[in-house]
This record gives sequence, structure tokens and C-alpha cells, in this order.
Amino acid sequence: MAVFGTVFMPEMALTRFENDSWSDSQFVSSDSIQMHPGAHVLHYSSTCFEGLKAFRHQDGGIYVFRMDQNLNRFEQSSRLLNLPEIDKAQVEKMILDVVGKYANDVPEPPGSMYIRPTHVGTEASIGKAAAPSLTSLLYVLLSPVGDYFSSGAKPLRLLLDETGMRCSPHMGMIKSGGNYASALGPILEARASVQADQILFCPNGDVQETGAANFILIDGNEIITKALDSSFLHGVTRGSILTLAADLGMTISERNISVDELLERASKPGVEAALSGTAAVLTPVGTFIHNDKEHTVGSGEAGPTTMKLRQALNDIQWGKAPDKHNWLVKVN
Ligand SMILES: *Cc1c(COP(=O)(O)O)cnc(C)c1O
Repeated sequence: MAVFGTVFMPEMALTRFENDSWSDSQFVSSDSIQMHPGAHVLHYSSTCFEGLKAFRHQDGGIYVFRMDQNLNRFEQSSRLLNLPEIDKAQVEKMILDVVGKYANDVPEPPGSMYIRPTHVGTEASIGKAAAPSLTSLLYVLLSPVGDYFSSGAKPLRLLLDETGMRCSPHMGMIKSGGNYASALGPILEARASVQADQILFCPNGDVQETGAANFILIDGNEIITKALDSSFLHGVTRGSILTLAADLGMTISERNISVDELLERASKPGVEAALSGTAAVLTPVGTFIHNDKEHTVGSGEAGPTTMKLRQALNDIQWGKAPDKHNWLVKVN
């Protein structure tokens, strides 16, 4: 299978916001878009996106996972960036239509169809550094993806960074391109200097998230993760895992964790840590790097609870367990 996110379906669904209204959505070629070189997004980063997945069930049905959550977040990101208000019903239809069009291309489990709605400001006005774009482009791009774990993913090494930040705090819950650009320098530096896979941003000692995934700690029957606030991205996977953990009788603690508490707990046997996100569901964390010292998390290997929760989520997505929470929407 190709590298994640490098294969695209030949067409995508697209709509434009002009003269205060959204155009009828169309299927267009996904190999290029046209915009003015002075487009707002290219200069002032008026851009946000979503990431969700469609899954193939054994009976051939294709199902999108928690689309309502992604639509709400897309609406929130667009609003906080002062992009034109999205029409959620229209975007929902665009997602279902384009996935339906490529239903035959949705991979079998453990693969899936990754769905990337994207919204960018297109007004040609380089004078609008401090004013919103009055026009925009919104499209839904599809990329078939394989199993993140097929390459035998090793537990991750995370650098705990207490001085830097992933992004400006008021941008944290917006899924916007500039935030990834902002985190890239520190991440590359951490890879080169201490062979970290990712940085776990812990501004002022408060454990937050990595560049593109939420962080959870599992200690026995308790699952601990930062409570939602506006400083970080509210992952749909995070919320789903907490719900499934509660279903399994685990104790859910949504609260702040300090770096001190994290390191203290990590040294205990049986403790597990993981990153959550749509692409990889739950990825085990094996090592924290802090002040030039390495701290093994629990056994340093993927833990049983992480794997159990990951499996529970996959089973619902793949139609192998009942969808008790009505998380799936049938496409075809
Ligand atoms: C997308 C993303 C996540 C995970 O969100 P999901 O909805 O679970 O995919 C977490 N953190 C950041 C910064 C993200 O961009």
C-alpha cells in the first residue's frame, strides 16, 4: 500500500461561496484547483479541514463514522477563522455523494476510505491581512488508506516539551493548516536531536497533545486525558474511546495531568499511554523523553487495554460489533 494520504480518487465534490451563497456542488477532477495567486488562504492561512473515514462491512455496505461530529467541528473551525459559514446539510450530502460514487473503491478492513473536507478563503486581496475572505472554496477529497499498523508500528517515542507550544492557544481547537506549520520546526528538531517520533506539547508542565493526535494515559481501570478546553483539538477518536472505555466499566478522568504526575505514573508496571486520532485510532506510546532522560512507559510495549479499546472501536467501524451509539451512517 502507498504512503498514507498519497493516493486520491479521480474526482471530488466541490462548492464555491460567492455573492453570499454556496453554489450547487459538483464533481470535478481532483488533480487540480484553480485560484488567484492573491487568494486569501495563500497569504493569510484562512484554511481548515476535517478527517473522517468510511468503512466497508462484510455485507458490502459502506458506512461513514461519526460524520455529525466532524461536520460540527468543520463548522466551528470555519466560524473561528471567519470563513463563510458552511452549510452542514450541503457538506453532509457532498460527503455521502462522493463516497457513494466511489463505493467500489472503499478498501476492505483493515483499510478504509479517508475523507478530507477542506475549506479555504479564495478572495484575491492581499490587503486583507486583518479582514476575512468574502469568498471561499470547499471540497471533499477522498484517499483510500491501508492499515496504519501493517508496517508493525513500534510504540512511539515522545519528547515532553514544557517550554514550546503546538500553536497559539486561541487556535488550538481549530483544525487549521497554520497550526501544523507552527509545530513542524520543533518536531523536526526533536526527531533530529533525540530521535523522538513526536512532541507531546506540555505548555507550563500541563500535558496537552501532539502535533496531530490527542494523548491518553491508562492506569489500571482508569483512563486519564486532559479535559476539553479551547487550547487543543477536540478529537472525535478521543471522545469515542472515552465512551467505549466507560462501556467497559473503566473510570474516565478528564482533567489536567502535569508532567510530574505523568512521569511518576509512567514508571509503574501496567501503565499504558497512547495517541488517538482518526488515521491510526490508538497508537501506543513506549517512551517519554524529558530533560535528556528516557522514561519507559509501563513495559515499553503496546499495552493490552490500548489494544482492547482499539479493537472495540475497529469492531464497530467494521460492523463486527453492534453500533450501540449510532455512530455509523450508511452511504449506499
Ligand atoms: C485531527 C487531530 C486530532 C485527532 O482528531 P480526530 O477527530 O480523533 O481525528 C487531534 N489533535 C490534532 C491537533 C488534530 O489535528
